[in-house]
Amino acid sequence: MSRYLGNMTVKTVREGEGRMPMQFALAGITAQDLAQLQPWYWSEELSLDPQTAVFKIEVRSYVLQVDGLNVLIDTCCGNGKHRSVPWADRLQTQWLENLAREGYQPEDIHLVLCTHLHADHVGWNTRLQNGQWVPTFPNARYVFSRKDYEFFRQQTHEAHNREAFLDSVLPVIDAGLADIVESDHCVHREIEDGIWLEDASGHSPGCVVVNARRGGSRAVFAGDVIHHPIQLVRPDIPFFADERPAEACATRERLLAQCADNGAVLYPAHFPDPPAGRVLRASRHFAYEFLK
Ligand SMILES: [Zn+2]
Repeated sequence: MSRYLGNMTVKTVREGEGRMPMQFALAGITAQDLAQLQPWYWSEELSLDPQTAVFKIEVRSYVLQVDGLNVLIDTCCGNGKHRSVPWADRLQTQWLENLAREGYQPEDIHLVLCTHLHADHVGWNTRLQNGQWVPTFPNARYVFSRKDYEFFRQQTHEAHNREAFLDSVLPVIDAGLADIVESDHCVHREIEDGIWLEDASGHSPGCVVVNARRGGSRAVFAGDVIHHPIQLVRPDIPFFADERPAEACATRERLLAQCADNGAVLYPAHFPDPPAGRVLRASRHFAYEFLK
């Protein structure tokens, strides 16, 4: 699936999906909240009863094509990786085939941008070759935020994120392909006319969004600032995996308000297809216009 935005093209590369109880994902969601979602988004796993509603997410990467650069944003869980959580353990998906279907071999990727270093955003950074985890994209520079690098190199994290750091981040650094940057780093050209990062700390300490603009609207690759449309209705409820819940909520509200004001096209990592959309203001908080 391609979308053209000014002089940029955005493609999606799917890995899979995940499901969890709504009340586990967002504790405290009410029937009234779900009723506010219903006029502009609904799906079979949802319910007006918050006890039976299911929180479903897609797991995908984006490829942003601009100025002859192929920029891969977030790399899902990866294949064959031992993880201490069942949803990511030793997966065998068609992600690489899906990338090829969009027209890219691993050698074609020039930049890999990880919005943060959780296990479902770094997995395809590496793949197994002769018993070793080696960079999947040999011609790419990989960009990691310094704050997340410093945070996840500590031993104190949930096992699956620690495992991902060891087999999907460190081998890239050891191969000399990583650039560890500040959270406002400009990746290509200049701010407002290129690709640049913006601090989005909270879901993780070094979480960033990727902004891109080359003619036309701004695109915002929002990573895990928002996972599901219901969070436009209730951006003030922490997501269970937010490392710093209050900060994550403040960041979500700030970035959604910014997108509503500047008309950016949002590309969240885990939204239902087709994920791109525009943030609208609603009587309380926000709504979303999915772009077909
Ligand atoms: Zn995620």
